[in-house]
Amino acid sequence: MSRDMNVFDTFDIAIIGCGPAGLSAAINGAIRKKKVAIFGTDFCSPKLHHAPHIDNYLGFHNIKGEELRQRFLQHVTAMGLKISQSKITGVYPDQNGFTLQSRDKFYAAKTVILASGVSTIKPIEQEIEYLGRGVSYCATCDGPLYKGKKVIILAYNKEGLEEANFLAELASEVTLVSQVKEQDAQGIQLDKSIKVVNGKPLRIIGEIWATGVALDSGEIHADGIFIIRDSVLPDQLVPGLDFSTKGIKVDRTGATNIPGVFAAGDCIGAPYQLSKATGEGQVAALSAVKYIDELKARS
Ligand SMILES: Cc1cc2nc3c(=O)[nH]c(=O)nc-3n(C[C@H](O)[C@H](O)[C@H](O)COP(=O)(O)OP(=O)(O)OC[C@H]3O[C@@H](n4cnc5c(N)ncnc54)[C@H](O)[C@@H]3O)c2cc1C
Repeated sequence: MSRDMNVFDTFDIAIIGCGPAGLSAAINGAIRKKKVAIFGTDFCSPKLHHAPHIDNYLGFHNIKGEELRQRFLQHVTAMGLKISQSKITGVYPDQNGFTLQSRDKFYAAKTVILASGVSTIKPIEQEIEYLGRGVSYCATCDGPLYKGKKVIILAYNKEGLEEANFLAELASEVTLVSQVKEQDAQGIQLDKSIKVVNGKPLRIIGEIWATGVALDSGEIHADGIFIIRDSVLPDQLVPGLDFSTKGIKVDRTGATNIPGVFAAGDCIGAPYQLSKATGEGQVAALSAVKYIDELKARS
C-alpha cells in the first residue's frame, strides 16, 4: 500500500460519511457544480442495509433497506460521483480551508460536511486521557515515532491487522491484541515477528505517558499503543467541535461552531430517521455552497 502522505487532492466540499445524509449532501453539492469528495468506510451504510423494511420514506412504500441503499448508490454513480473508501481520522483547519487525513493520504477541502452517523464506539478506560501521549489512532502518521521501539496494536478490524504488519517494519517489537472475527481476518498473513496476545483490552495504563494495556488476561507493556477501529470518535475527528447531549451542535443551516464545517444526519441528533438525514444532508450542502461562494466573492 502506498504511504505517500504528501499526495494532495483538493475539493470544494469533503463529505465524511456515505450514508443517506452524506450521499444526499453529495448530489446536492454536485448539482451546484462544486467538486465533491465522499469518504466512507467500505460499506455504505450498514444501518440502511439492516433496515428490514421502510414505510416512512416518501415515494418508496414498504421498501427493503438494502433496496433503498442500492438506489441511493445508483443515484450517486449516475451523477458521476465516486465514494473513496477511506476512513477519515482527522480534520484540521489551515489557510486554504481544511486538511483531511486518512490512513494513507491527505486531502484538502474548502468546506467539510460531517455525516458520520451515530457512533457506537465505547473508548476503553483512559484511552482519551492518553491520546497523543503514547496512544494513537494512526499508524502511518505516528508509526515513525516508534522506530526501534516496542508497540502494542489493539486491532478491531482487518485494517488493524494490516497496520500491525506495517508497524512490524519499523518497531523493534509489535504485540498484537486482535478483536477481529476469524472470517474478517481472512487473507491477511501476519508478519512472523508479531507477538499475538489473547485478551480483551480493559484499560490503558501509564503515568504521564501510556506504558501499556490492562487486558482481562493480564498486563502488557510497550512504548506506544495503536488503536485501530472502523470509526473515529466524533470529538477526536475534528478538534474543537462543539457537542450537545444530542450530538454535534449545529444551527438550522447545519453550521457547526467551526466556520466551514457543517453536519447532517444521525450525528447531529435524534430522530434517527432517513428523511431527516437526507433533508439535513441537502441543507448542509447548500450551506457549504453558500459559504464557498461568499469566500470567493470576498477574495
Ligand atoms: C435496523 C434499522 C432499521 C431502521 N429503519 C428505519 C426506518 O424504517 N425508517 C427510517 O426513517 N429510518 C430507519 N432507520 C434509521 C436510518 O437507517 C438512519 O437514520 C440513517 O441511516 C442515518 O443516516 P446517516 O447518513 O446520518 O448515518 P449512517 O447511515 O449511519 O451513515 C454514516 C456513514 O458514515 C461512515 N463513517 C463514519 N465515520 C467515518 C469516517 N471517519 N470516515 C469515513 N466514513 C465514516 C459510516 O461507516 C457510515 O457508512 C433504521 C436503522 C436501523 C439500524
